[in-house]
Amino acid sequence: MNLVNLVLSLLLPQFFLAIHQIFCNNTTTYLINRRRVSNPDLPDKRFGEFGQIEFMRYALIGLKRLKEYEMISCDYHIHTQLSGCADNELSVKKIIQFQQDLGIEAIGITDHDYSYKSKVKTIQAAQQAIKEADPAIKVHFGVESQMLEYQVTSITIRLASYFDYVLMAPNHYHLRGIAQPRSFRDPRRVALHEIYMFEAAIACPLTDAVVHPFLLSPRVFQFSAEEIAAFGQEMMRNIEQKRLLYQLDLVSQRGLGIEISPKMVRYNQLHLVEFYKLCLERDVKLLIGSDAHNLKQLEELSLLAPILEELGVTEEHLWHPKE
Ligand SMILES: [Zn+2]
Ligand SMILES: [Zn+2]
Repeated sequence: MNLVNLVLSLLLPQFFLAIHQIFCNNTTTYLINRRRVSNPDLPDKRFGEFGQIEFMRYALIGLKRLKEYEMISCDYHIHTQLSGCADNELSVKKIIQFQQDLGIEAIGITDHDYSYKSKVKTIQAAQQAIKEADPAIKVHFGVESQMLEYQVTSITIRLASYFDYVLMAPNHYHLRGIAQPRSFRDPRRVALHEIYMFEAAIACPLTDAVVHPFLLSPRVFQFSAEEIAAFGQEMMRNIEQKRLLYQLDLVSQRGLGIEISPKMVRYNQLHLVEFYKLCLERDVKLLIGSDAHNLKQLEELSLLAPILEELGVTEEHLWHPKE
């Protein structure tokens, strides 16, 4: 980290906080600041020169235009303690309470399909937990599933029928049985594989929305922040445009959602901005999902404000589960 970055990283969060205290009562503004300063999930070393400057750029735009984006009023991708990978204290009740306090109006509880081992019993218990929380907001009951390869998904038709909607992940490479790119170090190979899995998710009749497409998980790729940013850009350049547009037209025709998640900021994946521009050009609806695995990550939704602003997203561009 050079000297300018060091000074920026020390001074800017305090500057934001001061501005916030003077001008706003908005929780989300504060969250942007607090995240920079104290989120233990985000060690500073993951934000190298590029990441930090980009992050600050988005934080600044977010500060300017946040009011307009109080429209971030839904979050359709949230895990509970039922997902083994989530905080084991993260109950449905806590999530609902937390989201109500943040001013979110509609949410979706979406644990992994493999969490429902003794299926009907676990499903009934989860539905009961939502009922008992007595939500003042709309709470949908969804599930996150994944493509293993073309025409093979991890969820059965029977299991899917219990849920309001199915989120389909095309790139859960950390799980066993998922088709992998030939190389995780060659952006051209990763691009070929990502588009193949994206096509597979869209072709699957059980899919209601595709989550985190073209988002590279740092856990899988093991790159530094700068490397993953550059790799993401290079991968996106290698996605065949015609092939992608054809798929986006299918998504639009079928009324599927494509997730936009604050993970793209957390993971330094700003190559996705170009992807979402294409989605909007082709009338694809965007699903807002935090993919939160703990309470802190629920707050990170505010990081999307500047991205949505840049993209010009309005309510009419958003995907919601069917009633
Ligand atoms: Zn996922
Ligand atoms: Zn998830």
